[in-house]
Amino acid sequence: MPRLPAVLADSMTRWMGHPATVTGVTELSPGLLRVGFEGEALRGRPWKPGCEIEFRVSERELRHYTPAAYDDEKGRVEVVFQLHGNGPGAAWARRLSEGDRVSVLGPGGRSWLRPGPSHLFAGDATAVGLFEVLISALDAGAQVTGAVEAPPADVDAIRELLPRLTVLPAADEGPGHALHAWLEANVRVAPGAAYLAGHARSVQRLRARLCSAPLGMRRGDVVAKAYWAPGKAGL
Ligand SMILES: Cc1cc2nc3c(=O)[nH]c(=O)nc-3n(C[C@H](O)[C@H](O)[C@H](O)COP(=O)(O)OP(=O)(O)OC[C@H]3O[C@@H](n4cnc5c(N)ncnc54)[C@H](O)[C@@H]3O)c2cc1C
Repeated sequence: MPRLPAVLADSMTRWMGHPATVTGVTELSPGLLRVGFEGEALRGRPWKPGCEIEFRVSERELRHYTPAAYDDEKGRVEVVFQLHGNGPGAAWARRLSEGDRVSVLGPGGRSWLRPGPSHLFAGDATAVGLFEVLISALDAGAQVTGAVEAPPADVDAIRELLPRLTVLPAADEGPGHALHAWLEANVRVAPGAAYLAGHARSVQRLRARLCSAPLGMRRGDVVAKAYWAPGKAGL
């Protein structure tokens, strides 16, 4: 979400925010941080796989994130932050430490998971938490394939978190290049459902590829969300 007047950010935090405490901060790799948030007010919320939350990361800015895991009974959510650059969201996440008090806005967003036996995931490091929560919600027998593109320093950590997916070091040609090449080379049969998230243009391109011949998926079976776009603050 772009910059808001402080008074509007105050009202949103007051009406939609739920107080929580940071209960754990784990550096997974140079570019990935896993943070746990816990609070009485996080219990009994409509958590579902792929739901989105927001944090107020500065006086006038809110940023969207995705719970990688949630426990409604304990009132706990965990988020995997990609620490790219020094935008207010990344800077805020870097400063978090155990015991900090924060406000969690949400959850909101649509329903991601589609029924069916085979599921394909493709996205970048911002989608690691999304893919973790979606894969963990699938039936045990579901067929899972897909790829995540990430800075080379984060590849090993993502392989550990998402062992059923292929993790590709990002190519010099730019965001989405490695993912697109992987899709071209590896996906010969349309899956029942596909889930795409991350760099906006790459998500669009992957969706177009999946929905055109020879794969010819129905648009409704490809669930896609742009998580960031070059030069745009806080989608
Ligand atoms: C529904 C939703 C859920 C999301 N869930 C997550 C999540 O779980 N984990 C997560 O890490 N991110 C997630 N994101 C993405 C995150 O909100 C954006 O990356 C956001 O821009 C980060 O804010 P910022 O203040 O750090 O950077 P901004 O101030 O928003 O952006 C500063 C600059 O950095 C660029 N930029 C932003 N993100 C990236 C990136 N990843 N790589 C390279 N350049 C970038 C922008 O284009 C801009 O030019 C989600 C986004 C949405 C819409």
